[in-house]
Amino acid sequence: MSAATLLRDVFGFDAYRPGQQEIVEAVVDGRNTLAIMPTGGGKSLCFQLPALVRDGVTVVISPLIALMRDQVRGLREAGVEAGALTSGNTEEETEAVWDALAAGTLKLLYMAPERLASGGTITMLRRAGVSMIAVDEAHCVSQWGHDFRPDYLRIGELRETLDVPLAAFTATADAETQEEIIRKLFDGQQPATFLRGFDRPNIHLAFAVKDGPRAQILNFANVRKGQSGIVYCGTRAKTETLAQALRETGHVACHYHGGMDAQDRRDVERRFQQEDGLIVVATVAFGMGIDKPDIRWVAHADLPKSIEAYYQEIGRAGRDGSPAETLTLFGPDDIRYRRQQIDEGIAPPERRAADHTRLNALLGLAEALKCRRQNLLRYFGEDPEPCGKCDLCDKPADVFDGTTPVRMALSAALRTEEWFGAGHLIDILLGNETDKIRQRGHASLPTYGVGKDYDRRQWQAIFRQMMGHDLIRPDPARHGALRMTDAALPILKGEASIELRRDTIRAAKGLGPKVRQMVSEEDAPLLSALKAKRRFLAEQAGVPAYIIFNDRTLIEMAETRPRTLDDMARVGGVGAKKLDSYGNDFLSVIAGEVEDTHPARRKLAGRSEGQLYDRLLAVQSDLQRGPHGADKPMSLSASMLAKVAQLRQADRDGITRLIGERHAERFGDAFLEILAEA
Ligand code: ADP
Ligand code: ZN
Repeated sequence: MSAATLLRDVFGFDAYRPGQQEIVEAVVDGRNTLAIMPTGGGKSLCFQLPALVRDGVTVVISPLIALMRDQVRGLREAGVEAGALTSGNTEEETEAVWDALAAGTLKLLYMAPERLASGGTITMLRRAGVSMIAVDEAHCVSQWGHDFRPDYLRIGELRETLDVPLAAFTATADAETQEEIIRKLFDGQQPATFLRGFDRPNIHLAFAVKDGPRAQILNFANVRKGQSGIVYCGTRAKTETLAQALRETGHVACHYHGGMDAQDRRDVERRFQQEDGLIVVATVAFGMGIDKPDIRWVAHADLPKSIEAYYQEIGRAGRDGSPAETLTLFGPDDIRYRRQQIDEGIAPPERRAADHTRLNALLGLAEALKCRRQNLLRYFGEDPEPCGKCDLCDKPADVFDGTTPVRMALSAALRTEEWFGAGHLIDILLGNETDKIRQRGHASLPTYGVGKDYDRRQWQAIFRQMMGHDLIRPDPARHGALRMTDAALPILKGEASIELRRDTIRAAKGLGPKVRQMVSEEDAPLLSALKAKRRFLAEQAGVPAYIIFNDRTLIEMAETRPRTLDDMARVGGVGAKKLDSYGNDFLSVIAGEVEDTHPARRKLAGRSEGQLYDRLLAVQSDLQRGPHGADKPMSLSASMLAKVAQLRQADRDGITRLIGERHAERFGDAFLEILAEA
């Protein structure tokens, strides 16, 4: 498989982060490599991905056992044969690693440096067909640094014995450390070295809220007539209509997407490469092979799906170092669309959560109040000065104190126990007497009707900005209901204020009609989740989706939200056979992900401690944010809870010793009460 395919299919990323691609290519090519990237920049991918492309085993030396185990777990979940030899292993684990090594199926072998001290290890590695060594935290080889690990000094010898390429990674960039790494790991031979700031200072950054998006794009292109540019669109259909519109206004433009046949795509690529001043209107399919240095501008007609994708796409402009311009349009529909795309995808839950986080980062950038470049580069681990080359440096945002409306919105969410989306919350704030408000008695809430200073669209813009600032997040387990994050607490408590952009609220007034939804905004996320489940089951059974349940049935499920199989049986289209085959699958979607029983709890199954554990867990979740629901969330691990249930401490001191001061303060009394009853 190609590196690009692996990036997507195994790691679930839609683009490289800055710097990764060059490093991956060098490592895949088998060159000795030294890569210096900031923490959080994504170093692990730079050896994990090449390990999959290359034959044989890659040995990864890392000083942090917990981190190794994490990575191994992550890789195995992604279907990669990886194992670790660490002091933390059980005997079976070690056994399994040896077996996989002997069978030649292992792709990545993580190892603590201490292992290298035993001669047996090196002999074993020689036999195992090691084809590459990767060294994480390579600065540990530096005797002058505070992370010095003497065993790292054996790595150089390992490299010589095995005679394979070595890739070293660190976040420490100073020249002496680099020099020492090269001397000790590479025997003084200069490796291919990657130390590059992520900034592309010649690229101007700008975002705008959609306000007649087609005209916005045409205007942007009109003042850059004759320059080569790319317009990225969210859908194939849009690439065609927008290219047409550009041609009608006198541009040379063509469309490009993955649905075109290979020959047509190659034609566009070739023309773009050769002609000057061509505009390509494309989906993200356009770009991988594009190596044109003088692309003068990149516009996004729709919001990209992550901050990484954004960076990669705008990064295609201005490779020659001359000034280049970018413009990214976004609106509430984009946010909803991107979220839905993630939620409806078939990726496992952790991966979806990570995708949401990367989308959030992009939204934060879109809603930024100060220098965009600072915001962008901080995400990638750098901390630059304000740039002077972005829309917000050019013209400071028009802001107002948004503390009051934000607190109103938070309060509406909290008083309805964080079970609703923006649509219903806005109805509450505006005092709209909808059916739903009547049914749930929400007209009696203190927040009912307090938000009449703003109209619906303005409230939507406020909610959009709150999401951008990550004060509220849609919770996939609650079908997109908005839940407050910790970042919002100080605002809620009156300890902090927040500025919002007035200009983007004003612009929001001009938005076009909303996309038509099959169900209310409230139920839409659940319907998406149900459809995702249907698609999954249909694929599994090899039948068309409607054979499982038709849309009407799913809509009714989303609206009535059955909680039991009996309820489910009453939904139109759910016959006995289907109830039997699929009832539970769909119930679990409606009830939220039915959590897998934690192994610590499973061990207690059928014992009185099991019930005790459940009661402890329940009161812990009641108190998670403190007695008034306004404190920092806190909880014990499942295995600690199991211990509390098993050891049955009878007094405050005993409990405190077991779970620690901080946790005892929050949970101690409640736990003692339960233990006393048991
Ligand atoms: P480092 O070791 O450099 O501190 P990691 O390798 O742990 O960083 O990566 C940091 C985070 O970035 C991880 O959560 C990882 O999943 C994520 N990440 C890495 N590469 C990408 C990518 N190309 N796109 C999106 N996320 C990525
Ligand atoms: Zn700036």
